[in-house]
Amino acid sequence: MSVTVRFAPSPTGRLHVGNIRTALLNWLFARQSGGAFWLRLDDTDTQRSTEEFAEGIRRDLEWLGLRWSREERQSLRTDRYVAAAELLKARGRLYSCYESEDELDRKRKRQLARGLPPIYDRAGLKLTDTERAALEAEGRKPHWRFRLANSDADLAPLPTIVSWNDLIRGDQTVDVGSLSDPVVIRADGSFLYTFTSVVDDAEFGVTHVIRGEDHVTNTGVQVQLFEALGKEQPAFGHHSLLIGADGHALSKRLGALSIESLREAGIEPLALASYTALIGTSDPIEPQPNLDALAGRFAFSKISTGPARFDPEELKALNARLLHVTPYAAVAGRLEEMGIGGGAAFWDTVRGNLSVLEDAASWWQVIGGELAPQIEDRELTDKAAALLPAEPWDDTTWDTWVAALKTASGRKGRALFHPLRLALTGREDGPELKQLLPLIGRSRTEARLLGRAA
Ligand code: GLU
Repeated sequence: MSVTVRFAPSPTGRLHVGNIRTALLNWLFARQSGGAFWLRLDDTDTQRSTEEFAEGIRRDLEWLGLRWSREERQSLRTDRYVAAAELLKARGRLYSCYESEDELDRKRKRQLARGLPPIYDRAGLKLTDTERAALEAEGRKPHWRFRLANSDADLAPLPTIVSWNDLIRGDQTVDVGSLSDPVVIRADGSFLYTFTSVVDDAEFGVTHVIRGEDHVTNTGVQVQLFEALGKEQPAFGHHSLLIGADGHALSKRLGALSIESLREAGIEPLALASYTALIGTSDPIEPQPNLDALAGRFAFSKISTGPARFDPEELKALNARLLHVTPYAAVAGRLEEMGIGGGAAFWDTVRGNLSVLEDAASWWQVIGGELAPQIEDRELTDKAAALLPAEPWDDTTWDTWVAALKTASGRKGRALFHPLRLALTGREDGPELKQLLPLIGRSRTEARLLGRAA
């Protein structure tokens, strides 16, 4: 069976780390199984969906390297939803209702006051044609509910327990008998996600629906929708949701964790992908050389059912670890755009000191830019300048030079190295001086040791 999965965000905002985890798990599974990964824009909410957000979603996915082979948008598929709704009406599974929001609210309050669960009483189902006509004559427009399986005495009883073997959570059951029949068409004729998603998944041949566990109850309803439409249901996998480092749900703080803001903060796409794909799994959180390596590790059985802990500090640390092992070829283009030369020799020298790629600019400045003089021990740095060997320099130059300086000055340890590092780089720490020295070059080294701006 060939695998087809989809990532189905609503373009009502930018993607955040929670969405991206869903997108990634789908993408990695498709990649690993040689299947297709589609982008479906769930934009039936025309008030809140915008093209700008849709564009932002595409940009974020592309930045992460998650390519999709096909894009669909629900707003262009109304005819399909109308056809499916007609079929369900003919099968007696959609029924019209006329209550206003206020009336529904009053019903729920009455049920709660009597100690009953606030489940819709199916009044719409019991209306006679005359009653319906009277309501419409009042100017009311119907909304439509999907009749879930039920044990309602006036109706043919259907089994209410829906079960499936979840790819992540194992055996799952939802008792739809405890749910209200969901509204699938609003009074203004617009469709709701629960329904449109099933029509699309069936028509597009989606084989696996991988999404957050906040959709488990929806799955109970949607399995019944697949059945009612006479379609085969896909396999379902529900991953846990993210919690913050403090152990509390992240849902309210997700806005601040948009992909856009993490990108602006200098997080590498591969660090973000590695982190969001590996948290909440039994695999160690380690930088991955590419997305394929991550896909190679993917397994539903590794995904924990417990919440996945998202810690921005841990992400930053992973970002640094990734940069420390990133080969020059992978960043050459970006370094060039930043106006940084120096090739692999520069990159290999500084990468171990970077937290974000941008940091490379300040090391480039140390090597090729002008530094303010920082002389801590004039006697030592003057001697050091006098002992500088002639060029050409390589990574043995440092050892030879420092050995001579040690003898000539009688200094050793910190008293020897600290003034040199400060004069040469203007900093307390950084890459190995042995590697930096030939990059800085003789004339700049000499000027800096003599306390001249260079
Ligand atoms: N638009 C839905 C959401 O973002 C899609 C859920 C699904 O994958 O079915 O929650």
